[in-house]
Amino acid sequence: MGAMVNRRITLAARPTGMPELSDFALVEEPVAGLLPGNVLVGVDVLSIDAFIRTVMEERAFHGGVPVGTMLPALGVGRVLQSTVADLEAGDSVFGRLGAQTIVSLPAAALRKLGVSKVPATTYLAGLGVATGVTAYFGIEVAAIKPGDTVVVSAAAGAVGSIAGQIARIAGAGRVIGVAGGPEKVTFLVDELGFDAGVDYKSGGLDTGLCEAAPNGIDVFFDNVGGEILDAVLMQINVRARIVICGGIAHYQDMDHVIGPRNYLKLAERHARMEGFAVNHFASRYHEAETALARWIDEGRLVVHEQYEHGIDRFPHALRMLLSGGNRGKLLLDLR
Ligand code: NAP
Repeated sequence: MGAMVNRRITLAARPTGMPELSDFALVEEPVAGLLPGNVLVGVDVLSIDAFIRTVMEERAFHGGVPVGTMLPALGVGRVLQSTVADLEAGDSVFGRLGAQTIVSLPAAALRKLGVSKVPATTYLAGLGVATGVTAYFGIEVAAIKPGDTVVVSAAAGAVGSIAGQIARIAGAGRVIGVAGGPEKVTFLVDELGFDAGVDYKSGGLDTGLCEAAPNGIDVFFDNVGGEILDAVLMQINVRARIVICGGIAHYQDMDHVIGPRNYLKLAERHARMEGFAVNHFASRYHEAETALARWIDEGRLVVHEQYEHGIDRFPHALRMLLSGGNRGKLLLDLR
């Protein structure tokens, strides 16, 4: 094992705004001997998630990563070497593997994926805790009623693309996605079955929402915050539900988050705004996975995966996510 080398991505400097490539470092180190109770995993695929940007801040919601240390990431991999009975070389595992190629972790920190109908990457995407499972519980918070008009922001992204489709399964009458660029709008309508898309980058957000939701908005599943949240608030119906899943418009400058300017619409329309974090539902992940797997199997839920390749592309992949370069779930393949 002494000849094996791990390649990890560390935080070289705290970014201001969009992370620069110089804010990351690629560090190589020999893989140490395996401690009792630990398992050596070769990382196959990493999940590129918005929270990775938030932990680059000192006072991050998820706890800031110290400068000089490795960035976190969820991932799937294969056991290379094991000291425990229930995991053996070749087993497929999921866990918080980190931005690196080889990791030694206590067996308890890993989930054995076992034999499954779906590829391991599905546990980062359609069945991923920060992706499909997040969308599932977010739609539960939305308490969708039959016929509701639902708007989703960052709709062509990982969580948003799934949330919109689950909204339909939950009985929504009209599902509208807000996304950046005409290609993403086409993707939403043609490939994911959304009723309409609004390209917020074209400048016509208010008009676009008005045309796409002529009878007003009952549910807003928000991944973005900022101007999109304000625009939607102006068009909500009585008893609308605004679900705060995330606020990616703010993640590059968390010290200067500005709240919604139009929040008084909540009072005027007897509406509510409710946030959630997926870990609040940890005891029910299995239920979410089962439902998501069934919908995927039945062809009712389409999950798009997009790949970048190589650990050295980790910074590029994160920048891509933060600038809208992805459709569906962005994954980094290290194989
Ligand atoms: P994603 O949607 O696949 O990718 C992020 C997308 O956000 C980009 O593709 C881009 O799409 C859009 N975006 C980026 N910067 C933006 C900006 N300044 N203004 C408007 N849109 C912007 O990422 P994800 O991992 O699925 O995360 C989506 C959201 O879910 C994030 O807010 C994340 O924090 C949240 N989340 C919440 C939980 C929870 O427990 N509550 C768990 C996981 C994720 P466009 O091209 O359309 O701009």
